[in-house]
Amino acid sequence: MGLDEIRRRIEAAEVASNRKPGSVTLIAVSKQQPAERIDPVLDAGQRVFGENYVQEAQGRWPELRERYADLSVHMIGPLQSNKARAAIELFDAIHSVDRLSLAERLARIGDEMDRRPEIFIQVNTGAEPQKAGVLPSEADTLIQKARDLGLDVQGCMCIPPDFQNPIPHFRLLREIAERNGLAGLSMGMSADFEVAIAEGATHIRVGSAIFGARTRSHA
Ligand SMILES: *Cc1c(COP(=O)(O)O)cnc(C)c1O
Repeated sequence: MGLDEIRRRIEAAEVASNRKPGSVTLIAVSKQQPAERIDPVLDAGQRVFGENYVQEAQGRWPELRERYADLSVHMIGPLQSNKARAAIELFDAIHSVDRLSLAERLARIGDEMDRRPEIFIQVNTGAEPQKAGVLPSEADTLIQKARDLGLDVQGCMCIPPDFQNPIPHFRLLREIAERNGLAGLSMGMSADFEVAIAEGATHIRVGSAIFGARTRSHA
């Protein structure tokens, strides 16, 4: 199974950068993976998972939560405002808050339902037009406003541009988080999680390196 290998590599990366073993949270990204690949990972004790699509997550996790009380399911994909209520119901953390209108909606529904998932502000560190995330120059304002709304803002998240050295992007994200007093850094995927750990990631999001190539198209 990929999980054992990834756990070993995470620990080695933690040690190599003088970080405490176990201090980095592994989010196992289960989007578009069949149940038969997820079950062995649950059996191996993994309890933190990431999903990209509200509908797919709805079809999977409510049932599994009845079997595993200590699950933590994180939304890491772009979130449409009309799915905010479902997201608040389903997820323990949302890593893709990137605009004020979404923050406002999550705050209002969270108050209504008395549920406050951990929030990460997604930053478009490469300022790519097709990519989600607040622009770096607008991140401080969004973080401040999200806090003022009462959201439980824990950190920042980024997805560096494809085929570029991710390090400048990880560093930019860290700077933004630090100057806003945020401890959480959601960065690093299958191809670059060790580099992300060296740059201070607190949450890494690893899918294909654990489960294999994604198979199912999303619902
Ligand atoms: C799919 C996805 C991942 C996992 O990607 P892998 O390359 O399979 O590890 C991580 N983060 C986000 C935001 C994703 O959409």
